[in-house]
Amino acid sequence: MPKDKILVIEDEQKIARIITMELEYEGYEVHAEHSGVKGLEKVLEGGWSLVLLDVMLPKLSGLEVLRRIRNAAVHVPVILLTARDSIPDKVAGLDLGANDYMTKPFQIEELLARIRASLRVSKMQWKQEQEKVLEVDDLKVFVKSYSVKRADIDIELTPREFELLLYLMENKNIVLSREQIMNHVWGYDFMADTNVVDVYIRYLRKKIDYQFDRQLIQTIRGVGYVIKESSI
Ligand code: CA
Repeated sequence: MPKDKILVIEDEQKIARIITMELEYEGYEVHAEHSGVKGLEKVLEGGWSLVLLDVMLPKLSGLEVLRRIRNAAVHVPVILLTARDSIPDKVAGLDLGANDYMTKPFQIEELLARIRASLRVSKMQWKQEQEKVLEVDDLKVFVKSYSVKRADIDIELTPREFELLLYLMENKNIVLSREQIMNHVWGYDFMADTNVVDVYIRYLRKKIDYQFDRQLIQTIRGVGYVIKESSI
């Protein structure tokens, strides 16, 4: 896996050096800039996993740098380094789209933990943007990677079970007849009893429903099946 690249924008060279050293020790690739203008230029060049941005910078302040980053529609996670007790800076920073902030002086361990958390969130968001995700309550179907999770537990489905679940999810809260399911999942040419639908619904329930409190797949007697959200 390529290293995460972190940009440190901090005018106090000693602090910048310490942070750089610690981050490099943790295995990050780090670059430091000591002014808002230079830092902003670097951010806009792109390619960063995360930016650590000091608020108290001469000339172009950290908040102004942040404003310009977000105005440029750059969505890199930004952690602000603020002076102690500077509530207005924290509020303004979060309003401007900072992902988190650290109050100086801070323990490096806490900074590292916040960096890891921000990176985790941004990677998850990135993955979700790459992926079409269908959701019903705590059940998630990741269409492109053919994976399924319920309550964050990975669930293994066969390709046919996956197709069936996908069809139900695409039509969530809508009752589907056995014939509709049959035609969609097995195709019109498939000459079989619609009992096969019942059999596969049972397989699916075993995997996504039985071990959970709420049963998502519901049988509509005489009609067919529906996967239903609890809010409906
Ligand atoms: Ca400073």
